[in-house]
Amino acid sequence: MLVDSHCHIDGEQFDADRDEVVERAREAGVEIMLNVGTGDPHSDDFRRAVAVAEKYDNVYASVGVHPHDAKLYDDAAEQHLIDLIRSSGNVIAWGEIGLDFYYDHSPRDVQMEVFRRQIKKARELNVPIIIHSRDADDETVEILTEECGIDDFRGGIMHCFGGTPEMAEKLMSLGFLISFAGNVTFKKAENLRDAARVVPLDKLLVETDCPFLTPVPFRGKRNEPAYVEHTARFLAEFYGIEFEELADQTTENFLSFFGINLVTDQHGFPPIDRIHN
Ligand SMILES: [Zn+2]
Ligand SMILES: [Zn+2]
Repeated sequence: MLVDSHCHIDGEQFDADRDEVVERAREAGVEIMLNVGTGDPHSDDFRRAVAVAEKYDNVYASVGVHPHDAKLYDDAAEQHLIDLIRSSGNVIAWGEIGLDFYYDHSPRDVQMEVFRRQIKKARELNVPIIIHSRDADDETVEILTEECGIDDFRGGIMHCFGGTPEMAEKLMSLGFLISFAGNVTFKKAENLRDAARVVPLDKLLVETDCPFLTPVPFRGKRNEPAYVEHTARFLAEFYGIEFEELADQTTENFLSFFGINLVTDQHGFPPIDRIHN
């Protein structure tokens, strides 16, 4: 059994065959997927992401304004996210949020301000956060240390990890799980494997980030949740353990982090304490 801890199957790349994609994931043993909503918070983008989680009983959703779209964040956007989190039991995290200084689609000072603001709101609602960080490791660590280094922090997931071993260690100490995507399988990704070396099995997750970052041997094709198996197999071999052990442990990490009990309730569980007002 596997979990794809970060996918984007609500996107138009899956409009033609979403049912088949979810079915292929099941057949590949991917029992749970976390569909991460992105886009314009003033459009229907996030509602669409949540709708996918409502439709498939093994798909959960998260909502949060991506650093690319930080310039679109305002009070109305924030209220929209809060309403979605409060109104759907399938929304289990706030994200992806963070910093992307590779593309710089939003000004860096705006990205940092919006990142902090969303962390604060997620903390108020007591929901975990999903972090995106590209070419901004120092600033990401600094902000997370300042905003999350407090006892009652609910923790989060560092998605598509691309930082140093030191960054991985720091984030784990703050309560983050470290999730690797298909790019860890790429030939030249020695730096990612250096980081993977310091991540103990009980802090590890795997993801596709599909439709992007397709793992070897499907590199170049559209990615989909079923392919998370290839990243998991690659990492199992890298760690020198059985595939089943890695699959079971990463699944257990995800389920226990979010408080999901597959036996008693597969769907619509109350995963996190919410503010009721
Ligand atoms: Zn991302
Ligand atoms: Zn993503």
